[in-house]
Amino acid sequence: MTPDRSEIDRLSKEFENAPPGQVLRWAWDTMGSRVAMSTAFGSSGMVLLDIARKQVPDMAIFTIDTGYLFPETLELKARVEAHYGFTIEVIHPEQSVSEQNRHYGEALYGRDPDRCCAMRKVEPLRRKLAQLDGWIASLRRDQSETRKDVQPLESYWFDDGRMIVKANPLANWTRKQVWDYILEHEVPYNPLLDQGYASIGCWPCTQAVSGSNERDGRWAGTAKTECGIHTSFVRVEDSVSESDSAVPSD
Ligand code: SF4
Repeated sequence: MTPDRSEIDRLSKEFENAPPGQVLRWAWDTMGSRVAMSTAFGSSGMVLLDIARKQVPDMAIFTIDTGYLFPETLELKARVEAHYGFTIEVIHPEQSVSEQNRHYGEALYGRDPDRCCAMRKVEPLRRKLAQLDGWIASLRRDQSETRKDVQPLESYWFDDGRMIVKANPLANWTRKQVWDYILEHEVPYNPLLDQGYASIGCWPCTQAVSGSNERDGRWAGTAKTECGIHTSFVRVEDSVSESDSAVPSD
């Protein structure tokens, strides 16, 4: 059974310095097949995937193929499946890229990236989360200003009024810890990370970066910093403190 909000808050504090495997084990023992991990095959995602395959091998792992992934990312997915001996579930947007082009014109990402992300990332994720009570992600506080408050466990309202648990087992990990782990455990990783890319998403919206902020290369030159999959849900505590009501009205 999914714990209530106060239990999630208590456990989140308890997990602040816990090994990621302990958080994954708790999620699996608590939610079983109703919890799954998403991955976009970034450096943190590969660390968490490696830990999950070793410690909770039955936990499902899925990815969203926006239709704009780098060839290197698709090659890494195949390499990961062969290396660990399992299949990663692929979630697709409702429209192919060519269908989206017919409806909205070519290169929507350049004119309205929020709408493009909503259709190619957020909607597919929501469709997947409708089947789940728990979602595992590899967010870290040191990735960007927008992620500095990430907690090991968070609770969100889902579209149907249910509470869904999100776990970030690497919340307090640093970029150095991630790379130390990758090198020590010989974890497969995206070759673009050796070519100046620090964070890898869709090819039209990702550039190599020279600065220290890991996500500076995403939507470079615009104010956009997140695609929406980690920002479009209402945190339970936010909605309670703002309105003292149990479920937000929309
Ligand atoms: Fe579209 Fe760019 Fe968002 Fe990918 S990251 S869904 S190409 S706007």
